[in-house]
Amino acid sequence: MPHGSPHDPAPERLLRCAGAVVGAAVGDALGAPFEFGPEGAFSARFPEPGRGGEMCGGGGWEPGEATDDTQMAVLVGESLLDRCRLDLPDVFGRFQRWAAADPKDIGLQTEDVLTNGKPWDTAAATHFDTNLRAAGNGALMRASTAAVHFASAGRRATMNAARRITALTHGDPAAWEGTAVFHELVRCALHGDDPLAAIPETLTAVHPEHRERYAAVLAPDWDPGKATEFNGAVWPCLGSAVWALRTTCDFEQAVRAAVDLGGDTDTVAAVTGGLAGACYGIGALPERWTAVLHVPLPGWPGRVLRRRDLMELARRLSVGA
Ligand SMILES: [Mg+2]
Repeated sequence: MPHGSPHDPAPERLLRCAGAVVGAAVGDALGAPFEFGPEGAFSARFPEPGRGGEMCGGGGWEPGEATDDTQMAVLVGESLLDRCRLDLPDVFGRFQRWAAADPKDIGLQTEDVLTNGKPWDTAAATHFDTNLRAAGNGALMRASTAAVHFASAGRRATMNAARRITALTHGDPAAWEGTAVFHELVRCALHGDDPLAAIPETLTAVHPEHRERYAAVLAPDWDPGKATEFNGAVWPCLGSAVWALRTTCDFEQAVRAAVDLGGDTDTVAAVTGGLAGACYGIGALPERWTAVLHVPLPGWPGRVLRRRDLMELARRLSVGA
């Protein structure tokens, strides 16, 4: 049976889908206690991979507790399954319900868009018109579930879905394109291809106005030291995740490298974990990390998703759009 059959995903593909969804969540939870910290803080505390204790909590987070990145990814994924399609007003409504429940972490821009009282199709655009800068990584961070769901629909469809979901909270087309690139690289990885080798082809599908800037941060010779913005911006965030994948050879090393960059550690590690999980599969994720993983869902009192719940979400999403 070919990879990607819509009704019966091949077992390997299923492992990669679970790897993408759980991998993003694990990266988020691993990075959360180090958010806004300096470069090297993680490796100073945990010098050797594989020793344990890395899922340490702190900064208001329990060990293994995922943040807004994963919470919003779950909301997108559950909407796709409940509505059996991409229902943008429904996704926006879930985001609003979540934002109204006072989550521990929420991006400034996302909070403004979800609480400014504007309807789903104008809230983000209104914010962008007023602020002009809206190319944060706050939509890229939540893309794992939709990337898994739309992968079987092909490059054009998955990139367009990424743009539309991003536009719910981010009016800047630069943010749309970054999420679209992530979707496509995940699609390639789920198919069993090397996403790094797919970058040149992927760039041809990026909007021409944004192609050059993404080509720069995705180039083989780019590294996070060359970033021109804080890694809370979409370009260095995506570039850093690809760099972490390119310069390491397993899931644990990739996510460690991402957290060790400092700055927006939960999100850079979530994006890295989503990509690396799609490449290496769920079996590559350290069990000691996934065992303590948990995702509270503000707005849905009492709901806490754990590894098995995220794996089931990934399985259902993997059936495709
Ligand atoms: Mg976060």
